Amino acid sequence: MKCPFCNHPETRVLESRDSAEALRRRRECQKCQKRFTTYERVEVQPLIIVKKNGKEEPFDRTKLRRGILLACEKRPIKLEKIEEIIDSIRRNLIGRKKTHVPSRVVGSLVMSKLKALDTVAYMRFASVYREFDNIKSFIAEASTLEKKKAEKGNQDNILVETK
Ligand SMILES: [Zn+2]
Repeated sequence: MKCPFCNHPETRVLESRDSAEALRRRRECQKCQKRFTTYERVEVQPLIIVKKNGKEEPFDRTKLRRGILLACEKRPIKLEKIEEIIDSIRRNLIGRKKTHVPSRVVGSLVMSKLKALDTVAYMRFASVYREFDNIKSFIAEASTLEKKKAEKGNQDNILVETK
């Protein structure tokens, strides 16, 4: 493992910690003494997402992140929280022990995460994924959530965009 600061080829492992996601190693460069962390991940069977039209594509973390970021735009949500969501969705999908997972499963996992996190982000994401049968049920869901939020004393406004 080369040092990312000075490119020296010798680094020393100070600490190793195994988690569900990856093996985390704290390293120190033997030349410049700077410390950094590496993550070692096990490559599992490829996870294939099957879209509504039947097309298949590999699970793409970047793409999923893009979709979530779009829904969370200008919302008080930390990037690390989004990474956590992506990690937990990935774990959930892998845990199913199936190589092919329908895209709606991914969509509903994201929605359940966002629902617990931020109403506006949730509604945005849901509207994109068109998981609501029709606009009526969408608005009904929105107002239910709004009421719940209002009861909690949350000042967030729900933006419902009708098309
Ligand atoms: Zn170094």
